[in-house]
Amino acid sequence: MRNHQNIFLTALALLFFAVSCHKDKPVNGDGTEDKITIPTEIAWDGTKRADITYQLLVYSFADSDGDGIGDFKGIQAHLDYFDALGVNALWLSPVHPSASYHGYDVADYYALNPKFGTEADFQGLIDAAHARGIKIYMDYVLNHMSAKGHVWPGDAAVDTWFTKASASADNAYRDYFLFSANPAADIAAGKFPMIERGGYDSGQWFAVPGGPELGAKGRYHFHLDWTSPSAPKVTVTEAAGPAQVSNPSESVQKYLYFGAEKLFRFYQDPSNSNLFDITVDLDTDWGFLIRTSSTSWDAGTKWGASSGSQQITLGTAKTLNNEEAKDITFGQPELFHSHFWTDWFADLNYGAASSAASSPAFKDVAASADKWLRMGVDGFRLDAVKHIYHNASGDENPTFLKTWYDRCNQTYRSVSRPASVVLNDIYMVGEQFAEASEVAPYYKGLPAFFEFSFWWRLKDALNSGKGNRFAKDILGYQAMYRTYRADAIEATKLSNHDEDRAASDLGRNVAKIKQAAAVLLTASGAPYIYQGEELGYWGTKAKGDEYVRAPIKWVNSGKIADGALSGKVDPAMLTADISVETQTADKSSLLSVYRYFATLRNAYPALAQGAMSEHAIYNSTNTMYPSLACWYRTATDGSKMLVAHNFSVSSVLLLPFADNLSKPVAQLGSVIVEKESDAFQLTLGPNSSVVFAL
Ligand code: MG
Repeated sequence: MRNHQNIFLTALALLFFAVSCHKDKPVNGDGTEDKITIPTEIAWDGTKRADITYQLLVYSFADSDGDGIGDFKGIQAHLDYFDALGVNALWLSPVHPSASYHGYDVADYYALNPKFGTEADFQGLIDAAHARGIKIYMDYVLNHMSAKGHVWPGDAAVDTWFTKASASADNAYRDYFLFSANPAADIAAGKFPMIERGGYDSGQWFAVPGGPELGAKGRYHFHLDWTSPSAPKVTVTEAAGPAQVSNPSESVQKYLYFGAEKLFRFYQDPSNSNLFDITVDLDTDWGFLIRTSSTSWDAGTKWGASSGSQQITLGTAKTLNNEEAKDITFGQPELFHSHFWTDWFADLNYGAASSAASSPAFKDVAASADKWLRMGVDGFRLDAVKHIYHNASGDENPTFLKTWYDRCNQTYRSVSRPASVVLNDIYMVGEQFAEASEVAPYYKGLPAFFEFSFWWRLKDALNSGKGNRFAKDILGYQAMYRTYRADAIEATKLSNHDEDRAASDLGRNVAKIKQAAAVLLTASGAPYIYQGEELGYWGTKAKGDEYVRAPIKWVNSGKIADGALSGKVDPAMLTADISVETQTADKSSLLSVYRYFATLRNAYPALAQGAMSEHAIYNSTNTMYPSLACWYRTATDGSKMLVAHNFSVSSVLLLPFADNLSKPVAQLGSVIVEKESDAFQLTLGPNSSVVFAL
């Protein structure tokens, strides 16, 4: 008998369906060596067992009406595509009216973005998907909504909850958001249960747009004292004398900036070069700034107030600051809370987590969800759930999520649905963008969360060629989740719309990209396939998020749904080579790999839903074959499968292999299974994978 050994074959072709890879090797004297054939076809009864979801960007998936923007009818026209991918659910990017192409700034939870179609179109998509056993999940953005009274660029302005709320202190929408004239004091006083006292994360506060308390109208004198260049001062007083025009002398580089881009140059004191003055007729609704350049906004040329200290007192010198350089205001601005460092989101106010269901904002958002659930929507993907409550400790976010889940589940269970899609309880998956250990406690609130750690570990494994810790890590995450929820669902994935593309993370190495698909579709969990991933799309966020959100290239020549992306598409990627048309015709394409392993996962209950367990030999304790990732999947009916992936760019020969390898059912790359006397031996080529029924 030969010893265990690694053998390195340098020129193995990665033939997807090829079974044989001949090599010269000695045969035992008794001649009992047999090569075991791996079937090229997968027998599948057509039942979608595998719970594979497709993450779809409505704006860039498929356009049906020629306006260049993806729409509901475009999705409906491609339901065959999802059947071929074995998909039984679609996660749609936000479909509500919004000011952005991506939709994560909802202007109206009760409406649909007209660019995507009508309610009748949406209903048509839901019904057609249901007829194929495909569920529809909406992306629900609970944390914040649009702070702007506008929708898609170019569309007419509309009133939103926020514009109504900010119009006055006395209106029905006021409590939907957090307003304050002095956030630090209000937080310290415990006025905002969504933000913990002590300032763990008090977020960002922005002045309510157009608030009358910010500006001033009338004749004012401005006096600048630049004696200390690092801390100059401005003093403003009401002026009785005549107003001045801007100083025509270009030697002075001190400007008063206010109102609708008005810029007045100061006059230098003839007896003191550090002092400057001007009297102007002021008309500004936001306050003023001091500038030291008339053309540049570069760092250091804009002088204003410090955060939290924007108001000027007439007659009192105010020290200027050119780091924060906030607008200097004439009154105390009313501020609204937004934690995403943008003034176009406003966080919703649900009050204390324990009583969130009674808050006006919760009731209204929940009522909007009812509308979609009654139309047949099957579940929600919840955005940014770790940002809803800004507290350092405690269970506010999971508590809130459970309240939301239970509320929506009541409606879900009251609506009849086709047997092809109905579940006992509503499906909901949360985005808690963090390592698994931080995700785990959130399972108290929802049945499913994305497992970001899955992809982070997998890409490390593929790029390093080391697989022996992979199963152990994944099982470790499951164990953590199960301490919070016995039936926790791991929504496994590669990359998504907020991350660099998986193909880019793998250096656009085709063998690794194919193997990533094979791992995703043979591991436990409920996998998500992200639009374009199945075609090998690459792209990073460095030049803009749009570059990881590219349209599907359906045919070799023809239009794509790129109209929402402001030209930010990569023409070098969207060629005929990467199209669905080309890859469908090529049985060795990445798309074919996805379809093959998705079919495999749907065909075998053990792969679809079975428990995952570590292989007894080829795992983290095995240092002889560090490139191997091996695990079992065992279904409740007792059926069991063995999955083996070689993450190395070299071949590995394993003999004797400890399991019964007589029934291989699928392979990727070069795999040789042989039986020599009573022992099995397995040769796994570079970045190859194999699955056995045991
Ligand atoms: Mg369209």
